[in-house]
Amino acid sequence: FPPDKVRNFSIIAHVDHGKSTLADRLLEMTGAIPRGGRAQYLDKLQVERERGITVKAQTVSLVYSHKGEDYLVNLVDTPGHVDFSYEVSRSLAACQGALLLVDAAQGIQAQTVANFYLAFDLELSIVPVLNKIDLPAAEPEKVAEQVQQVFDIPADRCLLTSAKTGKGLDAILPAIIEYIPPPKGRPDGLLKLLLFDAYHDEYRGVICLVEVIDGVLRKGDRVTACSTGENYEILEVGLLTPDPAATQQLRTGQVGYVITGMKSTRAARLGDTWHLLKQPVEPLPGFKPIKSMVFAGLYPVSNADFDALASAVERLTLNDASVAVKRENSTALGAGFRCGYLGLLHMEVFHQRLHQEYGASIITTTPTVPYSLKHADGSTEEIQNPSQFPLGKKLAGIFEPTVEATIITPTPHVGAIMQLAQGRRGEMTEHALLGPERTLLKYTLPLAELGGNFYDSLKSITSGYASFDYEAGQQRRADLVRLDLLLNGEPIDALARVVHREKAQKVGAAMCAAMKDQLSRQMFEVVIQAAANGKIIARETMKAFRKNVLAKCYGGDVSRKRKLLEKQKEGKARMRRVGSVDLPQAVFHSLMRT
Ligand code: GDP
Ligand code: MG
Repeated sequence: FPPDKVRNFSIIAHVDHGKSTLADRLLEMTGAIPRGGRAQYLDKLQVERERGITVKAQTVSLVYSHKGEDYLVNLVDTPGHVDFSYEVSRSLAACQGALLLVDAAQGIQAQTVANFYLAFDLELSIVPVLNKIDLPAAEPEKVAEQVQQVFDIPADRCLLTSAKTGKGLDAILPAIIEYIPPPKGRPDGLLKLLLFDAYHDEYRGVICLVEVIDGVLRKGDRVTACSTGENYEILEVGLLTPDPAATQQLRTGQVGYVITGMKSTRAARLGDTWHLLKQPVEPLPGFKPIKSMVFAGLYPVSNADFDALASAVERLTLNDASVAVKRENSTALGAGFRCGYLGLLHMEVFHQRLHQEYGASIITTTPTVPYSLKHADGSTEEIQNPSQFPLGKKLAGIFEPTVEATIITPTPHVGAIMQLAQGRRGEMTEHALLGPERTLLKYTLPLAELGGNFYDSLKSITSGYASFDYEAGQQRRADLVRLDLLLNGEPIDALARVVHREKAQKVGAAMCAAMKDQLSRQMFEVVIQAAANGKIIARETMKAFRKNVLAKCYGGDVSRKRKLLEKQKEGKARMRRVGSVDLPQAVFHSLMRT
């Protein structure tokens, strides 16, 4: 396939608007997968199927015959969630066009807008598709007008489809071939590759997904990665159909995979440029290293399981290089890890995969964002764990990460949303009407305020009708304090957190109350306190109580007594001792959530 017979495109959509279903239908129509097979063929991970989201982008090459000519059409699937927006933009960079898929009943939503701008900034050609026209609530004419108003795309260019019934689908591939330009690379230029995704295969090692921008990539070539200077030999190249099918070469404009003997996906820097050994080229713009935006501690429930957890984490991060992992020790929880994630969903997905794929039982600490401290001498420091927050030291400033959030809502809910955002320290930056019934709001919000059910609150005050998306914003100065929980005067490091000064009192009191609730009575008095920057702000006291596990066994059933004692011992192994108080792990689980 010469470049003019190649088309590389992606599908961008708000979650649940039908992207995976549409991709399946396109695969079936071109014979890449059998009809009526497993739904969401491209969503391979169990967590993707369960949550109905795409975590890793997938790519598939289709051959399609149009007006008597064969075309190689590459569909690059993108992750649908904002946490993965860097991956979305890397995948889009391998495309010249995108299908902008909108649910004809729901209309344009926040993620539709955010993803549109990612594609628009990369100057992709956009084919609008209104899906789910089979639904009784579908209003394709109204949504087509919205598309015109919001994206400046003529309403009559919208294709109308139902990925469910198949209606209108025949128009999609012809539109891709006619509207989306072929890749513009130079077939006779020096080899230039864009690396846009990578995953780990148990049998074959790291599989890198690439677009050949210029030149031809052949099996046996030796290449250099611009960002790391590492050299690799191309052991295998091929197309994903969707399973890997080896070829001798990939030509200009083609999207496919390469295998190089690379050991870990950490070496595969998404957005990087590769060239032939000793034949350097100008790297493509836009590469940036991954930055973790959410950190949390990860500990085994029982200390004895540390090695098992360590190997599960290692295997899982082979496949998800965007998780940053560091060893960490906590007085309360023992040996564990501090992990950095792209966002909260990314973190939850990682925890769920640890559990589902490796059966690991874990305690995770309250997630925190990275804070940047400016010291009196002008130096700065990034902290990723609240217990690193210095006490009794004067700082020149504390800075926290923010996000630029987009919210689209039916207009009557605007007042309630403004109240919610204000309570979360948000600043409105835009307020626009999208037609007669909908409003678009933009806010600058502290990233830390998105934890603790922001999204759930938004859904509940708008009866589920508001949609929400965000992208990383600037650092902002904030009045923050470190909040500690103490038992008999001893702080529990794993429960330390950073909160806004105005919220410290309320959160501290709630944590003390929750701790009292969770603790079983001890044999001595326990004092529970909360401290903001070292100063006590809340307190609860628990009176002593004598507990005797054998009290229930009157008489001399020795084996029953022994069983109870053993059970108690087993329980003890799972306890953490702080301020001479034994804490069962359930305490951590519930306090982290307060
Ligand atoms: P994604 O999140 O964008 O990948 O969306 P999915 O493809 O997972 O689809 C979300 C839901 O919408 C699933 O329950 C699909 O079966 C359903 N769906 C997708 N396309 C259509 C359609 O054209 N009509 C109807 N009625 N339902 C659809
Ligand atoms: Mg999907």
